[in-house]
Amino acid sequence: MRIDIISAVPELLSGPFDSSIIKKSIDKNLAEIHIHNLRNYASNKYKSVDDYQYGGGAGMVMLIEPIDKCISQLKKERDYDEIIYMSPDGKKLNQQVCNKLSCFKNIIILCGHYKGIDQRVRDNLITSEISIGDYVLTGGELPAAILTDSIIRLIPGVLGDETSALTDSFQDNLLSFPVYTRPKEYKSWEVPEILLSGDSKKIEKWRIEQSIKSTKKKRPDLL
Ligand code: SAM
Repeated sequence: MRIDIISAVPELLSGPFDSSIIKKSIDKNLAEIHIHNLRNYASNKYKSVDDYQYGGGAGMVMLIEPIDKCISQLKKERDYDEIIYMSPDGKKLNQQVCNKLSCFKNIIILCGHYKGIDQRVRDNLITSEISIGDYVLTGGELPAAILTDSIIRLIPGVLGDETSALTDSFQDNLLSFPVYTRPKEYKSWEVPEILLSGDSKKIEKWRIEQSIKSTKKKRPDLL
């Protein structure tokens, strides 16, 4: 899968993809992440990507032209399944959205800044808008990194054991069961006996029961 991220502040994206599982997935050619500096598509000598808003008011607005030029260039090179704008008023990101996006081949993620992007970009170039929650950040880079991570970890081969993602919270509308590792006992805090029994059927049943219990307690809205 290939993800192209368009940003006016690409430095903000230099950390999240440089280590851990995401870096390994790139090294194994399971995922490609390309970051495009919007300022490279600006037409004036100051490399401006924003201007004052029509009608007045606080906050600059991101210009159409650099965004259009960048997206058009990318679309000339390949077809895209989705061109996503990260926006607080977009569809709220959830596991179902991540699952769907992880099946795609090529996606573009556009990061906004300031007051946002010119509405005409949203009306004419964007195919979907995604929010990471009901709060406002300064820019779309952290939301884009969250979206990218949540998609890439679902690509077959990225996680050591592919079934791991299937038992994570929100798959099947349940929260995850509790997990334990060594030692068996720490400060008299014990691992549930069933997990040491070696009986895989009983362990499986216990885990489902724990998932349901946890969901009922913490997120009954999911049931
Ligand atoms: N004026 C916009 C509004 O009220 O909806 C907020 C603009 S925000 C300061 C600048 C940029 O950060 C947005 O264009 C978007 O790309 C990104 N952003 C901020 N919060 C976000 C969120 N919760 N989800 C996704 N993107 C977000």
